[in-house]
Amino acid sequence: MWSDPVTEAVQGGGKMLLVSGPSGTGKSTICKRLGEDPRVVFSVSATTREPRAGEVNGRDYQFVSKVGFSEMIQAGEFIEHADVFGNMYGTLRAPMRDAIAKGLVFLVEIDVQGALQLKTLDTPGIYVFIKPPSLEVLKARLSGRGTESSEVLERRLQKAEDEMREAGKYDHVIVNNVLEDAVEELRLISGLAQEPTS
Ligand code: 5GP
Repeated sequence: MWSDPVTEAVQGGGKMLLVSGPSGTGKSTICKRLGEDPRVVFSVSATTREPRAGEVNGRDYQFVSKVGFSEMIQAGEFIEHADVFGNMYGTLRAPMRDAIAKGLVFLVEIDVQGALQLKTLDTPGIYVFIKPPSLEVLKARLSGRGTESSEVLERRLQKAEDEMREAGKYDHVIVNNVLEDAVEELRLISGLAQEPTS
């Protein structure tokens, strides 16, 4: 059940900025750019997936075991959690509350299932969907990574097509054609394009 420290905190000026969209749309790159602004705090999710080369525990994710993740669910630590391609991911409640209470923008970059869970719970925030210019471009981007087999690629594309149909449930849709333009659009939407008043 959603009880409401976040709504109270929103009145203090901070907000959740949720960025979502299919895998391969470039949402992480856009978010990294936005995160260069000191008024932005990244949500560090917990996950059961193995760390990739170069990833740092506590910075990129909180890497936990399956048992640890279940315990966190039981303890009510997540505001949402989802199984994404066989691994569990969850957004932590406490850092969100703290960042918003400080008047900061809490940037949550999650998959479409997680985003829709938050929407259903009426979690206050700005919901942004990142779209690729076309499915052909998405296919080219996903195959360009070279890390997935053709079967996995097909599965991701199918999922992307399904997810694209959910775009209308978001407050804003950004087409990631030119990276700089997409970042600027997100800055405008989030209110970060304005300089702080004090
Ligand atoms: P990756 O394993 O490539 O870092 O992330 C895989 C997918 O999981 C991405 O679409 C990413 O946005 C999503 N994701 C990351 N953290 C969370 C989370 O806390 N909740 C949900 N629902 N999805 C997440």
